[in-house]
Amino acid sequence: MQLKTILNRVQKFKSFVYQSVQWSESDGVLTLVIEMVARAHSDPLCSGCGRRGPGYDRMETRRFEFVPLWGIPVLFLYAMRRVNCKRCGVKVESVPWARGKHTLTGAYMQFLATWAKRLSWQEVAAIFQTSWEKVFHSVEWAVEWGLAHRDISKVESIGVDEVLWHRGHPYLTVVYQIDAESLLSKTSFLEELGVK
Ligand SMILES: [Zn+2]
Repeated sequence: MQLKTILNRVQKFKSFVYQSVQWSESDGVLTLVIEMVARAHSDPLCSGCGRRGPGYDRMETRRFEFVPLWGIPVLFLYAMRRVNCKRCGVKVESVPWARGKHTLTGAYMQFLATWAKRLSWQEVAAIFQTSWEKVFHSVEWAVEWGLAHRDISKVESIGVDEVLWHRGHPYLTVVYQIDAESLLSKTSFLEELGVK
C-alpha cells in the first residue's frame, strides 16, 4: 500500500491532492516530504471571507508538520496561492490542513494536545521530538477550537458545589450541568481531581 493511499484514507481533501512522497535527509534526520497541489480548476478559498475567488499569484513554498509516522517526521510542502477576492482584496488562501501562520497542521496540533492532557508538555515535546513552544501552541489552539465549537444552547440548569480538594487547601468551586449524563461526568471529573 502506498503512503498516499493511507493519507487519503485518514485525511482526504476535496480541493487538494497528495502529489508526491519523497525521502529527505539532512543532518542525519530522515523526513517524509509530501508535496501538496491544488486540484486543477479549483479556485483558492479566501482566508478573509471563506469564499472562492480567482487566483492572484503564488507565494513561497511553506512547510507544515504533520503527525509523524513510525517516528519519522512528516512534512507537507505547499506554495500558498493568493486570492483576488471581490470583497477582501488580495488575500492568502486558506487551506484545510492548517490555520493562519501555524507551521503545524491541525491534525498534528490535535495529536500533541491530546498527549499533553496525559503527560507534561515537556515530556510530550521530548517524546515527539518537537519543542515545548509547539506543544504549548497546540494546547492553546485546541482550547480555542473547543471554545469556538462548544454548544451551550442545550444547557437548561446548572449546579454549583464547593468541594474540599486536599486538606489545608482552599475549596474548589465546581460548576456543572444538571442532567443524568453530566452528573456522571461530574463524578468522574471529581475522581480525576482526587476529590471524594
Ligand atoms: Zn474574501
